[in-house]
Amino acid sequence: MSQVIVLTRLSDVDDRTIGCPAAPMVAGELRSGVLADWLSVTGPRMVLLAGPRSFCAGVDRAVEIVARVLRDRGRPVYVRKQIVHNVHVVAELTGLGAVFVDDLDEVPRGETVVFSAHGVSPAVRARAADRDLSVVDATCPLVAKVHAEARRFAARGDTVVLVGHAGHEEVEGILGEAPDAIVLVEDVADVARLRVGDPERMSYLTQTTLAVDETVEVVDALRARFPGLHGPSTEDICYASTNRQSSLLAVAGEADLVLVVGSSNSSNSLRLVELSQRHGTPAHLIDDASDIRPSWLAGVRTVGLTAGASAPDRLVREVIAALGGLGPVEVAERTITRETIRFGLPSAAGAS
Ligand code: SF4
Repeated sequence: MSQVIVLTRLSDVDDRTIGCPAAPMVAGELRSGVLADWLSVTGPRMVLLAGPRSFCAGVDRAVEIVARVLRDRGRPVYVRKQIVHNVHVVAELTGLGAVFVDDLDEVPRGETVVFSAHGVSPAVRARAADRDLSVVDATCPLVAKVHAEARRFAARGDTVVLVGHAGHEEVEGILGEAPDAIVLVEDVADVARLRVGDPERMSYLTQTTLAVDETVEVVDALRARFPGLHGPSTEDICYASTNRQSSLLAVAGEADLVLVVGSSNSSNSLRLVELSQRHGTPAHLIDDASDIRPSWLAGVRTVGLTAGASAPDRLVREVIAALGGLGPVEVAERTITRETIRFGLPSAAGAS
Protein backbone atom coordinates (compact mmCIF):
# COMPACT_ATOMS: atom_id res chain seq x y z
CA MET A 1 0.00 0.00 0.00
CA SER A 2 1.35 3.42 -0.90
CA GLN A 3 1.66 6.14 1.68
CA VAL A 4 1.81 9.93 1.23
CA ILE A 5 4.10 11.79 3.58
CA VAL A 6 4.03 15.59 3.61
CA LEU A 7 7.46 17.08 4.26
CA THR A 8 7.69 20.70 5.32
CA ARG A 9 11.27 20.76 6.55
CA LEU A 10 14.39 18.87 5.63
CA SER A 11 14.52 17.50 9.17
CA ASP A 12 11.10 15.89 8.57
CA VAL A 13 12.83 13.35 6.36
CA ASP A 14 14.49 11.83 9.36
CA ASP A 15 11.67 12.45 11.85
CA ARG A 16 8.73 11.22 9.82
CA THR A 17 9.99 8.59 7.47
CA ILE A 18 11.41 6.12 9.93
CA GLY A 19 10.68 2.67 8.64
CA CYS A 20 10.18 3.82 5.05
CA PRO A 21 12.62 1.98 2.78
CA ALA A 22 12.78 4.97 0.40
CA ALA A 23 13.83 7.37 3.16
CA PRO A 24 17.58 7.46 2.43
CA MET A 25 16.99 8.11 -1.29
CA VAL A 26 14.34 10.79 -0.65
CA ALA A 27 16.59 12.49 1.86
CA GLY A 28 19.45 12.52 -0.64
CA GLU A 29 17.27 14.01 -3.37
CA LEU A 30 15.99 16.67 -1.03
CA ARG A 31 19.41 17.63 0.23
CA SER A 32 20.90 18.07 -3.23
CA GLY A 33 18.00 19.15 -5.40
CA VAL A 34 15.60 21.96 -6.08
CA LEU A 35 13.28 20.74 -3.34
CA ALA A 36 16.03 21.32 -0.81
CA ASP A 37 16.30 24.92 -2.01
CA TRP A 38 12.60 25.45 -1.50
CA LEU A 39 12.51 23.70 1.84
CA SER A 40 15.30 25.98 3.05
CA VAL A 41 13.13 29.05 2.44
CA THR A 42 9.90 27.73 3.94
CA GLY A 43 8.96 27.71 7.60
CA PRO A 44 7.85 30.12 10.28
CA ARG A 45 9.27 33.66 10.22
CA MET A 46 9.27 36.84 12.23
CA VAL A 47 8.87 40.15 10.37
CA LEU A 48 10.12 43.23 12.17
CA LEU A 49 8.44 46.31 10.73
CA ALA A 50 10.35 49.56 11.01
CA GLY A 51 8.34 52.62 11.97
CA PRO A 52 8.23 55.26 10.63
CA ARG A 53 8.42 53.98 7.07
CA SER A 54 6.79 54.71 3.72
CA PHE A 55 5.24 58.06 2.70
CA CYS A 56 6.53 61.29 4.24
CA ALA A 57 4.63 64.58 4.36
CA GLY A 58 6.37 65.89 1.22
CA VAL A 59 5.44 62.82 -0.84
CA ASP A 60 1.88 62.79 0.51
CA ARG A 61 1.54 66.43 -0.53
CA ALA A 62 3.03 65.94 -4.00
CA VAL A 63 0.78 62.96 -4.82
CA GLU A 64 -2.26 64.84 -3.49
CA ILE A 65 -1.39 67.86 -5.63
CA VAL A 66 -1.37 65.79 -8.85
CA ALA A 67 -4.63 64.05 -7.89
CA ARG A 68 -6.35 67.37 -7.15
CA VAL A 69 -5.12 69.06 -10.34
CA LEU A 70 -6.39 66.07 -12.33
CA ARG A 71 -9.74 66.33 -10.56
CA ASP A 72 -10.07 70.10 -11.01
CA ARG A 73 -8.55 70.64 -14.47
CA GLY A 74 -9.15 67.28 -16.11
CA ARG A 75 -6.72 65.09 -17.99
CA PRO A 76 -4.09 65.29 -19.21
CA VAL A 77 -2.01 66.96 -16.53
CA TYR A 78 1.70 67.12 -17.32
CA VAL A 79 4.25 66.40 -14.61
CA ARG A 80 7.91 67.33 -15.06
CA LYS A 81 9.96 64.25 -14.07
CA GLN A 82 8.62 61.57 -11.74
CA ILE A 83 6.47 63.32 -9.15
CA VAL A 84 8.23 61.16 -6.53
CA HIS A 85 10.76 58.43 -7.21
CA ASN A 86 8.51 55.37 -7.18
CA VAL A 87 7.39 53.26 -10.13
CA HIS A 88 4.08 52.31 -8.53
CA VAL A 89 3.09 55.88 -7.69
CA VAL A 90 3.98 56.99 -11.21
CA ALA A 91 2.02 54.09 -12.75
CA GLU A 92 -1.06 54.83 -10.62
CA LEU A 93 -1.05 58.54 -11.52
CA THR A 94 -0.45 57.71 -15.18
CA GLY A 95 -3.58 55.57 -15.01
CA LEU A 96 -5.51 58.59 -13.72
CA GLY A 97 -4.33 60.78 -16.61
CA ALA A 98 -0.99 62.25 -15.54
CA VAL A 99 1.63 62.52 -18.30
CA PHE A 100 5.20 62.43 -17.06
CA VAL A 101 7.77 64.28 -19.18
CA ASP A 102 11.50 64.78 -18.87
CA ASP A 103 11.57 68.15 -20.56
CA LEU A 104 9.18 71.09 -20.59
CA ASP A 105 9.43 71.19 -24.40
CA GLU A 106 7.23 68.07 -24.37
CA VAL A 107 4.38 70.06 -22.77
CA PRO A 108 2.08 71.86 -25.23
CA ARG A 109 2.11 75.67 -24.81
CA GLY A 110 -0.43 76.97 -22.31
CA GLU A 111 -0.99 73.61 -20.58
CA THR A 112 -0.70 72.83 -16.88
CA VAL A 113 2.55 71.37 -15.58
CA VAL A 114 3.31 70.13 -12.07
CA PHE A 115 6.87 70.41 -10.76
CA SER A 116 7.94 67.32 -8.82
CA ALA A 117 8.70 67.07 -5.08
CA HIS A 118 12.44 67.29 -5.84
CA GLY A 119 12.30 70.93 -6.93
CA VAL A 120 13.54 72.76 -10.03
CA SER A 121 16.17 75.36 -10.89
CA PRO A 122 15.28 78.97 -11.76
CA ALA A 123 16.11 78.13 -15.39
CA VAL A 124 13.27 75.58 -15.45
CA ARG A 125 10.85 78.12 -13.98
CA ALA A 126 11.91 80.61 -16.64
CA ARG A 127 11.40 78.02 -19.38
CA ALA A 128 7.88 77.31 -18.09
CA ALA A 129 7.10 81.04 -18.22
CA ASP A 130 8.46 81.24 -21.80
CA ARG A 131 6.04 78.50 -22.83
CA ASP A 132 3.06 80.11 -21.00
CA LEU A 133 2.66 77.01 -18.87
CA SER A 134 0.39 77.08 -15.85
CA VAL A 135 2.69 75.83 -13.08
CA VAL A 136 1.62 73.97 -9.97
CA ASP A 137 4.63 73.54 -7.73
CA ALA A 138 4.82 70.30 -5.72
CA THR A 139 8.38 70.97 -4.50
CA CYS A 140 8.63 69.68 -0.93
CA PRO A 141 8.83 72.66 1.46
CA LEU A 142 11.96 71.11 2.99
CA VAL A 143 13.67 71.08 -0.42
CA ALA A 144 12.49 74.66 -1.00
CA LYS A 145 14.20 75.59 2.29
CA VAL A 146 17.56 74.37 0.91
CA HIS A 147 17.00 76.40 -2.28
CA ALA A 148 16.36 79.52 -0.17
CA GLU A 149 19.55 78.92 1.83
CA ALA A 150 21.54 78.47 -1.38
CA ARG A 151 20.29 81.82 -2.69
CA ARG A 152 21.01 83.56 0.65
CA PHE A 153 24.52 82.13 1.07
CA ALA A 154 25.48 82.84 -2.53
CA ALA A 155 24.09 86.40 -2.37
CA ARG A 156 26.41 87.28 0.52
CA GLY A 157 29.42 86.17 -1.52
CA ASP A 158 30.07 82.71 -0.05
CA THR A 159 31.31 79.71 -1.91
CA VAL A 160 28.51 77.24 -1.16
CA VAL A 161 29.49 73.59 -0.83
CA LEU A 162 26.54 71.34 -1.55
CA VAL A 163 26.92 67.81 -0.16
CA GLY A 164 24.88 65.50 -2.37
CA HIS A 165 24.76 62.99 -5.19
CA ALA A 166 25.63 64.17 -8.71
CA GLY A 167 22.79 63.90 -11.17
CA HIS A 168 19.99 63.67 -8.59
CA GLU A 169 17.11 65.99 -9.53
CA GLU A 170 17.13 67.72 -6.14
CA VAL A 171 20.85 68.45 -6.50
CA GLU A 172 20.41 69.72 -10.08
CA GLY A 173 17.73 72.13 -8.92
CA ILE A 174 19.80 73.52 -6.02
CA LEU A 175 22.94 73.89 -8.16
CA GLY A 176 20.86 75.92 -10.59
CA GLU A 177 20.15 78.57 -7.93
CA ALA A 178 23.71 79.93 -8.21
CA PRO A 179 25.77 77.84 -10.64
CA ASP A 180 28.89 80.02 -10.27
CA ALA A 181 28.85 79.97 -6.46
CA ILE A 182 27.84 76.37 -5.61
CA VAL A 183 30.23 73.41 -5.78
CA LEU A 184 29.12 69.83 -5.31
CA VAL A 185 30.96 67.32 -3.11
CA GLU A 186 29.88 63.72 -2.76
CA ASP A 187 32.35 62.40 -0.19
CA VAL A 188 35.41 63.10 1.93
CA ALA A 189 37.75 62.58 -1.05
CA ASP A 190 35.95 65.40 -2.90
CA VAL A 191 36.50 67.69 0.10
CA ALA A 192 40.26 67.10 -0.10
CA ARG A 193 40.22 68.08 -3.79
CA LEU A 194 38.22 71.30 -3.32
CA ARG A 195 39.74 74.52 -4.67
CA VAL A 196 37.96 77.69 -3.55
CA GLY A 197 38.55 81.43 -3.96
CA ASP A 198 38.28 82.70 -0.38
CA PRO A 199 38.45 79.95 2.28
CA GLU A 200 37.12 82.47 4.86
CA ARG A 201 33.81 82.84 3.05
CA MET A 202 32.44 79.33 2.89
CA SER A 203 29.12 77.74 3.72
CA TYR A 204 27.60 74.33 3.16
CA LEU A 205 24.23 72.75 2.47
CA THR A 206 23.16 69.14 2.03
CA GLN A 207 20.69 67.17 -0.05
CA THR A 208 17.67 66.30 2.10
CA THR A 209 17.87 62.52 1.73
CA LEU A 210 21.48 61.72 2.61
CA ALA A 211 22.68 59.20 5.17
CA VAL A 212 23.13 61.02 8.46
CA ASP A 213 26.32 59.17 9.47
CA GLU A 214 28.08 59.65 6.12
CA THR A 215 27.14 63.32 5.97
CA VAL A 216 28.61 63.96 9.42
CA GLU A 217 31.95 62.64 8.10
CA VAL A 218 31.86 64.92 5.06
CA VAL A 219 30.85 68.00 7.07
CA ASP A 220 33.57 67.25 9.66
CA ALA A 221 36.10 67.10 6.82
CA LEU A 222 34.82 70.44 5.50
CA ARG A 223 35.10 72.04 8.96
CA ALA A 224 38.63 70.69 9.34
CA ARG A 225 39.67 72.31 6.04
CA PHE A 226 37.61 75.50 6.43
CA PRO A 227 37.27 76.36 10.15
CA GLY A 228 35.11 79.42 9.40
CA LEU A 229 32.53 77.29 7.53
CA HIS A 230 28.90 78.37 7.98
CA GLY A 231 26.05 75.89 7.88
CA PRO A 232 22.28 75.93 7.60
CA SER A 233 20.29 77.12 10.63
CA THR A 234 18.66 73.69 10.93
CA GLU A 235 19.79 70.41 9.40
CA ASP A 236 19.02 70.01 5.70
CA ILE A 237 18.65 66.22 5.95
CA CYS A 238 14.92 66.06 6.47
CA TYR A 239 13.01 64.58 9.41
CA ALA A 240 11.65 61.77 7.18
CA SER A 241 15.08 60.59 6.03
CA THR A 242 16.45 60.78 9.57
CA ASN A 243 13.50 58.90 11.08
CA ARG A 244 13.56 56.13 8.45
CA GLN A 245 17.27 55.61 9.02
CA SER A 246 16.78 55.43 12.80
CA SER A 247 13.86 53.01 12.52
CA LEU A 248 15.85 50.87 10.06
CA LEU A 249 18.61 50.57 12.65
CA ALA A 250 16.02 49.58 15.26
CA VAL A 251 15.20 46.42 13.26
CA ALA A 252 18.41 45.65 11.35
CA GLY A 253 20.29 44.55 14.46
CA GLU A 254 17.73 41.82 15.20
CA ALA A 255 17.20 40.73 11.58
CA ASP A 256 18.93 38.11 9.40
CA LEU A 257 17.88 40.07 6.31
CA VAL A 258 16.45 43.52 5.62
CA LEU A 259 14.07 44.27 2.76
CA VAL A 260 13.60 47.91 1.76
CA VAL A 261 10.60 48.68 -0.42
CA GLY A 262 11.49 51.47 -2.83
CA SER A 263 12.57 52.20 -6.37
CA SER A 264 16.14 52.18 -7.60
CA ASN A 265 16.19 55.95 -8.21
CA SER A 266 14.90 56.73 -4.70
CA SER A 267 17.80 58.30 -2.81
CA ASN A 268 16.39 57.82 0.67
CA SER A 269 15.53 54.15 -0.07
CA LEU A 270 19.06 53.43 -1.35
CA ARG A 271 20.51 55.01 1.79
CA LEU A 272 18.46 52.57 3.92
CA VAL A 273 19.88 49.56 2.06
CA GLU A 274 23.44 50.87 2.43
CA LEU A 275 22.92 51.69 6.10
CA SER A 276 21.78 48.16 6.88
CA GLN A 277 24.71 46.71 4.95
CA ARG A 278 27.17 49.01 6.76
CA HIS A 279 25.79 47.68 10.04
CA GLY A 280 26.33 44.08 8.94
CA THR A 281 22.83 42.98 7.96
CA PRO A 282 22.32 41.94 4.32
CA ALA A 283 19.71 44.15 2.64
CA HIS A 284 17.94 44.35 -0.70
CA LEU A 285 15.92 47.06 -2.41
CA ILE A 286 12.65 45.80 -3.89
CA ASP A 287 10.00 47.61 -5.89
CA ASP A 288 7.44 45.12 -4.60
CA ALA A 289 7.02 41.52 -3.41
CA SER A 290 7.69 40.13 -6.89
CA ASP A 291 11.32 41.25 -6.64
CA ILE A 292 12.05 38.96 -3.67
CA ARG A 293 14.44 36.16 -4.66
CA PRO A 294 13.90 32.85 -2.81
CA SER A 295 17.66 32.47 -2.37
CA TRP A 296 17.71 35.61 -0.17
CA LEU A 297 15.44 33.86 2.31
CA ALA A 298 17.39 30.63 2.77
CA GLY A 299 17.88 30.14 6.49
CA VAL A 300 16.38 33.56 7.25
CA ARG A 301 14.05 33.44 10.24
CA THR A 302 13.79 37.19 11.00
CA VAL A 303 13.18 39.73 8.24
CA GLY A 304 13.50 43.46 8.89
CA LEU A 305 11.06 45.32 6.65
CA THR A 306 10.82 49.00 5.83
CA ALA A 307 9.96 51.33 2.95
CA GLY A 308 11.48 54.52 1.64
CA ALA A 309 9.62 57.82 1.88
CA SER A 310 8.22 57.53 -1.66
CA ALA A 311 6.94 53.92 -1.41
CA PRO A 312 3.25 53.28 -0.60
CA ASP A 313 2.66 51.28 2.58
CA ARG A 314 0.33 48.86 0.76
CA LEU A 315 3.46 47.41 -0.88
CA VAL A 316 4.81 46.59 2.58
CA ARG A 317 1.60 44.71 3.40
CA GLU A 318 1.94 42.81 0.14
CA VAL A 319 5.47 41.76 1.07
CA ILE A 320 4.18 40.41 4.39
CA ALA A 321 1.46 38.49 2.54
CA ALA A 322 4.05 37.06 0.13
CA LEU A 323 6.27 35.92 2.98
CA GLY A 324 3.18 34.34 4.51
CA GLY A 325 3.04 32.06 1.48
CA LEU A 326 6.26 30.44 2.64
CA GLY A 327 5.11 29.71 6.18
CA PRO A 328 3.50 31.31 9.21
CA VAL A 329 4.58 34.93 9.74
CA GLU A 330 4.56 36.76 13.04
CA VAL A 331 4.71 40.54 12.65
CA ALA A 332 6.11 42.90 15.27
CA GLU A 333 6.54 46.66 14.82
CA ARG A 334 9.43 48.73 16.15
CA THR A 335 8.22 52.32 16.17
CA ILE A 336 10.82 54.84 17.25
CA THR A 337 8.62 57.93 16.84
CA ARG A 338 5.23 59.03 15.50
CA GLU A 339 5.32 61.51 12.64
CA THR A 340 2.67 64.23 12.76
CA ILE A 341 4.14 66.69 10.23
CA ARG A 342 1.78 67.72 7.42
CA PHE A 343 2.38 70.30 4.71
CA GLY A 344 -0.37 72.53 3.31
CA LEU A 345 -1.28 72.47 -0.37
CA PRO A 346 -0.60 75.37 -2.75
CA SER A 347 -3.65 77.44 -3.78
CA ALA A 348 -3.09 76.33 -7.39
CA ALA A 349 -3.93 72.78 -6.24
CA GLY A 350 -7.28 73.83 -4.87
CA ALA A 351 -6.20 74.63 -1.30
CA SER A 352 -8.50 77.15 0.36
S1 SF4 B 1 11.97 62.77 1.87
FE1 SF4 B 1 12.10 64.70 3.05
S2 SF4 B 1 12.64 66.27 1.58
FE2 SF4 B 1 11.93 64.49 0.40
S3 SF4 B 1 9.74 64.86 0.09
FE3 SF4 B 1 9.91 63.67 1.98
S4 SF4 B 1 9.98 65.23 3.65
FE4 SF4 B 1 10.41 66.28 1.70
